[in-house]
Amino acid sequence: MSEGRIYNFSAGPAVLPEEVLREAAAEMLNYRGCGMSVMEMSHRSKMFEEIINEAEKDFRELLNVPENYKVLFLQGGASQQFAAVPMNLMKHGVADYIVTGRWAKKAFEEAQKYGKANKIASSEDKTFTYIPDCSDLPISPDADYVYICENNTIYGTKFWQLPNTKGKILVSDVSSCFLSEPIDVKKYGVIYGGVQKNIGPAGMVISVIREDLITDDVFPGTPTMLKWKTQADENSLYNTPNCYCIYICGKVFKWIKNMGGLEAMKKHNEKKAKILYDYLDNSKLFRGTVVKKDRSLMNVPFVIGDDAMEKKFIAEAKAAGFENLKGHKSVGGMRASIYNAMPIEGVEKLVQFMEKFEKENR
Ligand SMILES: *Cc1c(COP(=O)(O)O)cnc(C)c1O
Repeated sequence: MSEGRIYNFSAGPAVLPEEVLREAAAEMLNYRGCGMSVMEMSHRSKMFEEIINEAEKDFRELLNVPENYKVLFLQGGASQQFAAVPMNLMKHGVADYIVTGRWAKKAFEEAQKYGKANKIASSEDKTFTYIPDCSDLPISPDADYVYICENNTIYGTKFWQLPNTKGKILVSDVSSCFLSEPIDVKKYGVIYGGVQKNIGPAGMVISVIREDLITDDVFPGTPTMLKWKTQADENSLYNTPNCYCIYICGKVFKWIKNMGGLEAMKKHNEKKAKILYDYLDNSKLFRGTVVKKDRSLMNVPFVIGDDAMEKKFIAEAKAAGFENLKGHKSVGGMRASIYNAMPIEGVEKLVQFMEKFEKENR
């Protein structure tokens, strides 16, 4: 790690691979001899066309995206898709939502503006510390889709098994587990994620949408920009996209490919999470807050159970170079987000620090 850099456990915007940042820095003033920065070039230029095409190609390769799915680089973040999903998909005005956290709840509330959104399962009764059994849910016969948030960034839970949608289209917000492991794209109608958790800078969402779901038959009054067909017809270049973000994401895709792709990424992430969870399970001071079988590999919430002691821990950790360990304001305690770009030694050193803190404060 470079001099002066800290270990950043932020939930998002989050840590990026240092190699990527260094490469971008080297290309900042003069991108590949064109005499300007990527920030300064036309999104209609040949140079940028190559950047976006290569980014899409690498993304498709990594996630093994089938031919009949479009990959869109869109603005407005993941939150914008909370509205775009019902606007584009609620042909019968009905959808079923599984509410496993704050982001799923926000999506559910947004969908109610455009049709009948049903909450068919929830884990709110236990502060979202588990994933409900989704093997036999009361799926609405006329539902246009079933919606999940696959990795719950704030609460640290993850769907390790997709819900049985009884033949309905599955829509998944994968913001905080995007490209952290291989997935079978064919099982979904729509996958989308804000890139600032695991892939790049903030302000963009990547949506992977099955082609037959991209139509002119959208909610009346849907803004041109929110209609997937507008964006798909123009290859994400209907208007000026977030060019620099696409460029950085492209570099992160190359970085993941160099690391060995998503299988290797998954192993890397499992290894890191195990180091932290094993320690939490044996600690007499700290404990994880999530039902074990539903634990996320990306976001690890934990508590001491004593406000003053938690404040002390967060302050001392910060002083020691471990940043952004404070839990989300809605849950308190601590949370370590250990996305793709967090190196193993970052987690090892955090655990060493926690061990030391435990010895000093028991
Ligand atoms: C961060 C996050 C969002 C919101 O992303 P924005 O890009 O800020 O809109 C949505 N869903 C999940 C799961 C998230 O982690």
